[in-house]
Amino acid sequence: MSNTPDDRARYDAIIVGAGVIGAAVAFELSKKGYRTLNLDKLPAAGYGSTSNSCAILYMQCGTVLFMLEGGHHEKVLPLFDEVGVPYEVWDNDTLAERVPFFEHGTHGEPCRPEDDRFWAEPQGELVGALFTPDSGYVSDPQLATHNLQRAAENVGGEFRFNVEVADVRRADGRVAGVTLSDGTEIDAPVVVNVAGPHSFVINRMAGVYDSMNIKTRALRHEVHHVPSPAGIDYEKEGLHTSDSDLAIYVRPESGNNILIGSEDPGCDPQVWVEDPDDFDDVVSDEQWNAQVLRLARRMPSLGVPNEKKGIVDLYDVSDDWIPIYDRTDLDGFYVAIGSSGNQFKNARWPATAWPN
Ligand SMILES: Cc1cc2nc3c(=O)[nH]c(=O)nc-3n(C[C@H](O)[C@H](O)[C@H](O)COP(=O)(O)OP(=O)(O)OC[C@H]3O[C@@H](n4cnc5c(N)ncnc54)[C@H](O)[C@@H]3O)c2cc1C
Repeated sequence: MSNTPDDRARYDAIIVGAGVIGAAVAFELSKKGYRTLNLDKLPAAGYGSTSNSCAILYMQCGTVLFMLEGGHHEKVLPLFDEVGVPYEVWDNDTLAERVPFFEHGTHGEPCRPEDDRFWAEPQGELVGALFTPDSGYVSDPQLATHNLQRAAENVGGEFRFNVEVADVRRADGRVAGVTLSDGTEIDAPVVVNVAGPHSFVINRMAGVYDSMNIKTRALRHEVHHVPSPAGIDYEKEGLHTSDSDLAIYVRPESGNNILIGSEDPGCDPQVWVEDPDDFDDVVSDEQWNAQVLRLARRMPSLGVPNEKKGIVDLYDVSDDWIPIYDRTDLDGFYVAIGSSGNQFKNARWPATAWPN
């Protein structure tokens, strides 16, 4: 691809990445009148880690959060009251009535099936459950991102796919634009790093990696799909459920399956990935057993299939697990990174804050 004369001065902001957050940044900046260009090395919007997001958000099935003594609900409830999130507090009888397929035992510090403690009798009971009727999930996160792309284009945003950013250029002490892997140079006074698990690679290109107090890294993550137990239509009757006792979350998955994700207990090995273009994307026996057996403890009627099904993708994790939507030491170079497995739901707001 050669430089068009226009490319040099045509854009107010280049956005590196067209995942759900990159597309949202484009939409918000374009609405404000910025001429934006998203560049993505993959063939379509939302094709990167977004495509494998569990996207817990919109399909309104409601969420059940199991309550433990001293658990998350104690922090969350006052915030729900403050901002007016509707909720119901269920005791265990109500939980049994509304969601009959869950066991109520608690099992102490989460552990792996290799540990004898995993198989011990429950130590106590849940305190109950917190139900938020308005929450849910998106069954196709890539389509949601495509829709955001179209919304951004409708207000003037442009997207180019199958193009790889190879360098972030500086001039006069500020960002000047990017260079693509085929040598094309595109200039803009603002460059936004929204490269998901590749965020640290782009920060290195911009020369800001070392000066950042909080850094980002790519963490391998597995999500599994199991068929609903006989007689249960989990796709219709199931809820998104957060089970911090067993350190898993589940939600309905199309095809009457149950999706099982991990809440990252300390006993599970963390697999940090040095090169986000080269990681093992096959579901492992060890993690499949850990996550599926954890659900089987909560849902005794669940069968454990021999055939493993699921996805493997990367979280972009910041040192403190809090995303970074900020400017950097390099004038004009912004980041929307460190989404740590939980920012699909927030993709609409970050771009409203900057740049001014
Ligand atoms: C397994 C899994 C489960 C998740 N579950 C949930 C959930 O239930 N709820 C929730 O809210 N969030 C969840 N998340 C997190 C959520 O999916 C992410 O926060 C969000 O998708 C990140 O979007 P993004 O646009 O920042 O990144 P990405 O979608 O990764 O987009 C980054 C883009 O940058 C492009 N790129 C990278 N380097 C370059 C380069 N050099 N040149 C050009 N393009 C480049 C990539 O091709 C990619 O398309 C989950 C994530 C994973 C992996």
